[in-house]
Amino acid sequence: LLRAVGVKKSYGHTEVLGGIDLDVHKGQVVCLLGPSGAGKSTFLRCINHLETIDAGQIWVDGEPIGFRQRGGKLYELRERDVARQRRDIGMVFQRFNLFAHRTALENVSEGPIRVLGLKPDEARKQGLELLDRVGLGHRGDAYPAQLSGGQQQRVAIARSLAMKPKLMLFDEPTSALDPELVGEVLEVMSTLAGEGMTMVVVTHEMSFAAEAADEVVFLADGAVVETGPPSEVLSAPKHERTRQFLARIL
Ligand code: ATP
Ligand code: MG
Repeated sequence: LLRAVGVKKSYGHTEVLGGIDLDVHKGQVVCLLGPSGAGKSTFLRCINHLETIDAGQIWVDGEPIGFRQRGGKLYELRERDVARQRRDIGMVFQRFNLFAHRTALENVSEGPIRVLGLKPDEARKQGLELLDRVGLGHRGDAYPAQLSGGQQQRVAIARSLAMKPKLMLFDEPTSALDPELVGEVLEVMSTLAGEGMTMVVVTHEMSFAAEAADEVVFLADGAVVETGPPSEVLSAPKHERTRQFLARIL
């Protein structure tokens, strides 16, 4: 469903991604681990074309992201076409960035109304179902400021799901949360994974990676150091760099 080949990205003279390859099949959960500055966020931002890559290519469901091929050449897509591609790719950030002046339910139903053309009644019904799925069916009328960080993040997940994405990207979704709120968000993510959602998750939550990931990818200095099932990469890492990293965060 997601394929990245030789993805490179530099800022000025600094190369941040030095040629990343990644394959994620439909229904798979891939966790990206790596030290600060490894390029994890940059890579996720490349997947939905928030960053334009310098070399390589990324496909989601067979479509090259951000570019169109014509006569052997690649042309960058117009903003409108990029927006269409992004609809299929949900993204959840460390900061929940909900609309502060909209209720939880409005946050979840606004996209489907405005972008997918759902009738307000339908969007509301779907929104309530989604809030229910993340355990917040009773808090639809609450504004973000009236919700805990964990609840806000669950609303943000519901809001992404409302667009019926093919792929969900998570960038450290629990690292801004108080420790006691981390579990409820991870639980929603595990359920989602169990339901067959294709997910790429940047996280430092090793228990989540160990339990939910089909594949763990360890990145350092903009390159894939090691990849494999969690039972290998987390329990018996082959590379010294991976060992050092795990020793520091466990
Ligand atoms: P963290 O764990 O701290 O979130 P990360 O693995 O997500 O780290 P990135 O945020 O992708 O790392 O950053 C990779 C490198 O790219 C860093 O050295 C960062 O300073 C640099 N970088 C990221 N965004 C930009 C930008 N817009 N302009 C210049 N440099 C950038
Ligand atoms: Mg990051």
